[in-house]
Amino acid sequence: MAITAEKIWFDGEMVAFADANVHVLTHTLHYGLGAFEGIRCYKRGNGRSAIFRLEDHIRRLFESCHIVTIDMPFTREQIVQACIDTVRANNFEDCYIRPVVFMGHGEMGLSAMSNKVRVSVIAWEWGSYLGDEGLKNGIRGKVSSFSRNHVNAVMAKGKINGHYVNSILAKREVMAQGYQEAIMLDTEGYVSEASGENLFIVRDNVIITTPVGMSILDGITRHTIMKLAEERDMQVKELRFTRDMLYVADEVFAVGTAAEVTPIREIDDRTIGTGKPGPITTALQAAYFDLVRGDSTDHDEWLTYVN
Ligand code: PMP
Repeated sequence: MAITAEKIWFDGEMVAFADANVHVLTHTLHYGLGAFEGIRCYKRGNGRSAIFRLEDHIRRLFESCHIVTIDMPFTREQIVQACIDTVRANNFEDCYIRPVVFMGHGEMGLSAMSNKVRVSVIAWEWGSYLGDEGLKNGIRGKVSSFSRNHVNAVMAKGKINGHYVNSILAKREVMAQGYQEAIMLDTEGYVSEASGENLFIVRDNVIITTPVGMSILDGITRHTIMKLAEERDMQVKELRFTRDMLYVADEVFAVGTAAEVTPIREIDDRTIGTGKPGPITTALQAAYFDLVRGDSTDHDEWLTYVN
């Protein structure tokens, strides 16, 4: 379904949806050099809407720009404010927020340096990325034949536009075969992450996730889940793990801003655990939703209220 909104923040101005356009010579359209974020705003139990971990997302946006040597023409505070203003301008209560930084038109070629750096913040109403049914009962995943980018080929700590071709190849491959999400191995064969989420496995009550020093995005939901688990005295380890450790895990789940906390009930046609979301996944999913859209006041420092 085509997304829509009333207003879009574009280079410092709030413009009408129909006016937020770019030229076909936009540099990023040709070569993929740009950075973006995905953030959610939720209507909480108290009836007010709050953006979840906004400052952390904007910090990562600036880090992404730094990694790929894009000079941001705005300050972090300005982009934080732009996100708040965009949600307000559209009167959204629950929405997804997409800041994007890209190279405008002007020069062409890989060496272009003088093109204007352009920044937009778009918000739209977006349900759960892997579906409500997936959130409740779990999804079917498949290990993709495409490897996650090598750590020294593209910079995984940046959320860089062009990097996502790697994820899209994996996602399209497994979706064409009837699965809902692609699990990607790194170039050494260890489990990296899903096409747009970080991964966790549970075995004998120990929660394991790929270390941040591997080829993964340093996910904000991943960090949130690790914190929630530790606060509940659950044991969490950052460890490299193998494909067959997915198969024999008691539970596997994927986490990300868009996908939230989605159980994975089957991988490569093997049932995971009982084939139903396990107790640790269910507990952490409930804790996450209580934090973002429930009544929890445990991490008010992660909430930016917009109304
Ligand atoms: N890995 C990849 C490749 C992603 O695109 C995302 C979504 N941004 C994540 C992990 C999860 O990151 P976050 O929890 O910060 O949304």
